[in-house]
Amino acid sequence: MYQRILIANRGEIALRIMRACRELGIETVAIYSEADRGANYLDLADEAYCVGPAKPADSYLKIANVISAAEVGNVQALHPGYGFLAENAHFNEICRSCNIDFIGPSPEAMAQLGDKNAARSLARKAKVPVVPGSEGLIENEEEALKFAHDVGFPVIIKAVAGGGGRGMRVAANDLSLKSALQQAKAEAEAAFGNGAVYLEKYIEQPRHVEVQVLADTHGNAVHLWERDCSVQRRHQKLIEESPSLNVTPKSRKAMCEAARRLIIEAKYTNAATVEFIVDKDGNYYFIEVNARIQVEHPVTELISGVDLIKQQILIASGEKLSLSQSDIKCTGAAIECRINAEDPKKNFQPCPGKIERLIAPGGFGVRWESHAHSGYIVPPYYDSMIGKLLVHQPTREEAIATMLRALAELKVDGIKTTASLHQEILSHSAFAEGRIDTTFVERTFGG
Ligand code: ADP
Repeated sequence: MYQRILIANRGEIALRIMRACRELGIETVAIYSEADRGANYLDLADEAYCVGPAKPADSYLKIANVISAAEVGNVQALHPGYGFLAENAHFNEICRSCNIDFIGPSPEAMAQLGDKNAARSLARKAKVPVVPGSEGLIENEEEALKFAHDVGFPVIIKAVAGGGGRGMRVAANDLSLKSALQQAKAEAEAAFGNGAVYLEKYIEQPRHVEVQVLADTHGNAVHLWERDCSVQRRHQKLIEESPSLNVTPKSRKAMCEAARRLIIEAKYTNAATVEFIVDKDGNYYFIEVNARIQVEHPVTELISGVDLIKQQILIASGEKLSLSQSDIKCTGAAIECRINAEDPKKNFQPCPGKIERLIAPGGFGVRWESHAHSGYIVPPYYDSMIGKLLVHQPTREEAIATMLRALAELKVDGIKTTASLHQEILSHSAFAEGRIDTTFVERTFGG
């Protein structure tokens, strides 16, 4: 087992990893940018090193600086969290060449699944249903038009290197397909340095359901059931829950098993999330794999009772999974609301600044994951999420009641947050009745 780990991230996920390490008796080395200097959560690390100025490209994304901190901190392993360098196969490989265990998959598995087109081929090989799509890359307009005419409009153009909804465009006819193709390629080239795209049939009003998987280095893999992340705005998740809605036990089991098969086929180790979209008839289709821990992982922790961060660390250190598939139960219902420093009344514009007063909710069934506190200054340079509010209760109905109670207790003065939008969504009859899909928020509350 490791004695010391570097946490190559900031904010709530850095704190989450520190807590897991402390419980495992592992020392932690934190990193921070000049903007995060003096943040309270850094006091919980055994050591902390500045890795550069506020701008992510000059600090949290600067590989040489992060590796230097790992060397100076004398760590055996590094946890990348999510975002920043978490899915950078090149960084992963550098860690390996510096003899630092990367707490995640191998660079090879990461690179393979990071290419969405390669991931689709792998899924086909593992007999996992994929969205009807082009067999490979789309090189020109003619190919795009041919595909669209074969499967029927609407279609969605996706960047092979895509992420965060960038490089994606929906087209409803020939004319929009031609311009969307150019736009998607240009956007993907600018964002990822790779303009390669492919096409998929656009599934209308789908639900987003993803399966959590853990795989060790001894060939064992288990799934930890699924999360429904259909409550999104502009492809950004707002609320996640488990179990997912409107799935038959048979189809649920089949989807979870498919995810596990894919991870085994990819020779992938550590934590992964296999994402699917589910159409109105309940058919599920693979869309992509996220080769890292996800923001919404605590939803799965609540229904399964498994600490996913600890599992990641144990797996990376070479231990065998102590869980077998039949040990992993899904108990009760869990919901997560992402609390972002954004103004829902002003087109969700970011609201960095000083939190004058923060009162965190608590009580039965409530979990609050946050590095923020009264007096904390939310920096303008990073993701706007300041905390995750989670609840766990025996039934979904009770979970909704607890979440509404907890949201009412949460007080954040000084900056605007998305808590008020969450209250509206959770009070909405369509949410209570489970009539939600990825277009629900924009249809109901505006874009
Ligand atoms: P990214 O990696 O950029 O997040 P994803 O492939 O995970 O992109 O897709 C993000 C979201 O876009 C999904 O959650 C879903 O809402 C929507 N989406 C993706 N593919 C399709 C599709 N074929 N049809 C309809 N919606 C889709």
